[in-house]
Amino acid sequence: MSKAETDANKLGKQAELQPDTKLTIGGRNPHAHHGYVNTPVYHASTLLYRTAEDFVGRRGQYFYGRRGTPTSEALSKAIAEIEGPACAGVALLPSGLSAISTGLLAVLRAGDHVLVTDNCYGPTRKLCDSVLARYGVTTTYFDPQIGGGIASLFQPNTRAVFTEAPGSLSFEMQDIPAIAEAAHKRDALVLMDNTWATPLYFRALEKGVDLSIQSGTKYIGGHSDLMLGTISCSAAAWPRVRDTGFSLGLCVGPDDMNLGLRGLRTMGVRLARHHQSGLTVARWLEERPEVLRVLHPALPSHPGHAIWKRDFTGACGLFAMVLKPVPEKAVFAFLNALTLYGMGASWGGYESLAIPFDLKDYRSATKWAPGGPSIRLHIGLEDVRDLIADLERGFAALAATQ
Ligand SMILES: *Cc1c(COP(=O)(O)O)cnc(C)c1O
Repeated sequence: MSKAETDANKLGKQAELQPDTKLTIGGRNPHAHHGYVNTPVYHASTLLYRTAEDFVGRRGQYFYGRRGTPTSEALSKAIAEIEGPACAGVALLPSGLSAISTGLLAVLRAGDHVLVTDNCYGPTRKLCDSVLARYGVTTTYFDPQIGGGIASLFQPNTRAVFTEAPGSLSFEMQDIPAIAEAAHKRDALVLMDNTWATPLYFRALEKGVDLSIQSGTKYIGGHSDLMLGTISCSAAAWPRVRDTGFSLGLCVGPDDMNLGLRGLRTMGVRLARHHQSGLTVARWLEERPEVLRVLHPALPSHPGHAIWKRDFTGACGLFAMVLKPVPEKAVFAFLNALTLYGMGASWGGYESLAIPFDLKDYRSATKWAPGGPSIRLHIGLEDVRDLIADLERGFAALAATQ
């Protein structure tokens, strides 16, 4: 056995390796597959046993396509690797939203209460207010900037706290370690939507999170051609998450898992570029006369910057800006003049995006009053000089409407 192969077989005990190294070797075992670098894509439902004894005893590593294959195992292991030793297991789900719903269903039961951050991804709120409410779970939304003050919101039946930092569209940070400390004192589990930072830039499980959720659709996929969700679990959460995912019958198609594995290999270099270009554009926008504020936690002007700096090691390409008040038609002229920024939901692909948004109907614990029209930007892998020139064209079109 070669040195590289021995090391690959010992994944999980390699906390000393750097994240980019783990990304390239995680979940692979070439010599278990004739030496081919990548784990094959197993298209599988039925798994056959040699004898009746083996079947009745369910002897073997695998059991049935839905319950796992070498392909799903490779992806789970690779993600567990980058999460680090605090990760007891990774569940794979068919979308980010199904990872959120599975995570919440795994830790809650009828009669429970859950605390959810007011700046959560919109469909997370909808899930709490509809399906969870129907099954007898009550939700209280909290101010994302509450920190340890969350202790006062616990009720005797509070079983979980759902966090997301920075939050969807508005980018407020949260003090995850302080929230986790308060939650664990009350025996509540902590869920976090960690899609923005990924485990490469925020080690959620090491900061007290029990269920770290990613929409793999975003940076794991990285090419706008995949729907995928993942839940990385602490030892306390893993058995429940695994069993709930199995009971709900959720599994990911083999080709999609392969896209996840392929995307993961380059996620480190892609994120580094998203980080760098995103900050370059954010700083440029901060200097523009048309811009009131840039909502990017890596900027010193951001109210959550100190927390970002303390807990995070990088930023992705997603942030927002608030324009000085202009009529809607000026905002639309800006967006319509852009040629390199697509307009569409989702993000995390190689391409840049720009969309207008308003959160006033998505808040209950806090008020969304940014002071002007808001635009979310995803900075892709294009040359940042071209991206800035395109925004200049947008601002010229905006000015032309005035
Ligand atoms: C996109 C997104 C999701 C949902 O992911 P899907 O894979 O689209 O279901 C969840 N959380 C955040 C923060 C997202 O941006």
